[in-house]
Amino acid sequence: MEAVKVVGGGIAGLALAACLDPGRFRVTVHERLAEPPSVETSLAMWPEAQRALDEVGILPAVRAAGSDFGGMALRDGSGNVVLTARPSRVLGVSRADLLRLLDAAVPASVVRAYGTVASPPGPGLVVGADGVHSIVRRSVWGERSGARLTPYLALRGIIDDAVPPGVGGEYWGRGQLFGIAPASRGRTYWYASYRSDLGPGGIDVGEALALTRGRFSGGAAEIGRVLAAAVPGETLAQRVWTVPFPGSYRRDSAVLVGDAAHGMAPNLGRGACEALIDAATLAGLLNSRPLPEALRLYNRRRLLRSQSLRVASSGMARLALAERGQPLRDGLLRLAHRPGGAGAVER
Ligand SMILES: Cc1cc2nc3c(=O)[nH]c(=O)nc-3n(C[C@H](O)[C@H](O)[C@H](O)COP(=O)(O)OP(=O)(O)OC[C@H]3O[C@@H](n4cnc5c(N)ncnc54)[C@H](O)[C@@H]3O)c2cc1C
Repeated sequence: MEAVKVVGGGIAGLALAACLDPGRFRVTVHERLAEPPSVETSLAMWPEAQRALDEVGILPAVRAAGSDFGGMALRDGSGNVVLTARPSRVLGVSRADLLRLLDAAVPASVVRAYGTVASPPGPGLVVGADGVHSIVRRSVWGERSGARLTPYLALRGIIDDAVPPGVGGEYWGRGQLFGIAPASRGRTYWYASYRSDLGPGGIDVGEALALTRGRFSGGAAEIGRVLAAAVPGETLAQRVWTVPFPGSYRRDSAVLVGDAAHGMAPNLGRGACEALIDAATLAGLLNSRPLPEALRLYNRRRLLRSQSLRVASSGMARLALAERGQPLRDGLLRLAHRPGGAGAVER
C-alpha cells in the first residue's frame, strides 16, 4: 500500500480522503483543528462542483441540507437592479453542513492526526490541502510562493430571517459590495467587502461590523436591516489573501489542491468549488494510474482552468470594488445585458 499524507482536513482534504481507494492507499489526514469553525457561513456550489460532490457520494445529502440560490440580481448601491441572471442549478450550502457530510464520507481506515503540521510529513505522497497559507507550498515551492495580502476585507454571516422577495443579490456601491442570498433552513446569508487597513490578523469582529454599518448607512434599506440583525458572534471578518501562480501543482513528492494551489479572491464564488473538483480529479487519477502519470495528468487537467478562475476572480474584485466610475460601469453592464447587447445571455 502506498502512503498518502494529506495536510489539511478542510473541504479539499476531506473530499480527497473520501475518494481515495482504501485498498490501494494508506491515508492520513493531518488537521490542526479538532473542531470545525463555529461561525456559520454559506457557499455557492456551481454545477461542476455538484458533479464532484456526486463522485464523493454526498450530492443527495448536500442537496437536502442546502437551498437553491435562485435568480441573482446585480444591483447598484441603492438597490436598483442593474442586471439579473438565473444561473442554472447553483446550490447554497452551509460550510458546516458540507464539512460534516464530507467528514462522514471519509472511510474509517483513514487515520486522523490532529495538530499543526510544521513541515511536510513524509514518506509517501504529501498533499497540500492546507489552504491559502499552505505550509506544504511554502516548504516545497519556497517562501516566494507565500500568500499575497489583498487590500480587501470580507465579512460574512447568517441571520435567522428569510430573504424577503425582491431584495436578494449583490449590491455594488462605490468601493464596496454587499451580498444577500438565501441560506439553508430559511435563513439569510450576507457578505460585505471593501478596502480596509484592519488586520490582517486579530481583527476585532465587533469593530469590523460597526465600521461596515457606518459604510453602508444611507444605502439600500435592506442592507441596513441585515446589518442591524448581524451580531459579532455569528460574523466572520477577515482580510482576503490570494496565492501567486506556483508554475505547477506538483513538485518532488508533493501535490497541491484547493486554496493551497489557487487561493483566489472570493468574488466569483468558486474557491471551494474548485477545491472539490481538484480532489475528485486527483483521487480518480491516483486510483487508476501509476503515481507519476496521475500527478502529471492532474496538473495538466487542473492548472489552466483553476488559474484562469484565480485571475478572473481578481478582475471581478477590481470591477466590483472600483472606487471610481460606478455610473459608467453600471451603465455598461446594463447595456451589455440588454436583449441583443454584446453580453446578452440566453435564458
Ligand atoms: C468571504 C469568502 C466567501 C467565499 N465564498 C465562496 C463561495 O460562495 N463558493 C466557493 O466555492 N468558495 C467560496 N469561498 C472560498 C472557499 O472558502 C475556499 O476556496 C475553500 O475553503 C478552500 O478549501 P480548502 O480545503 O482548499 O482550504 P481551507 O478551507 O482553508 O482548509 C484548509 C484546512 O487546512 C487546515 N490547516 C491549515 N494549515 C495547517 C497546518 N499547518 N497543519 C494542519 N492543518 C492545517 C485548516 O485548519 C483547514 O481545515 C469564499 C471565501 C471567502 C474568504
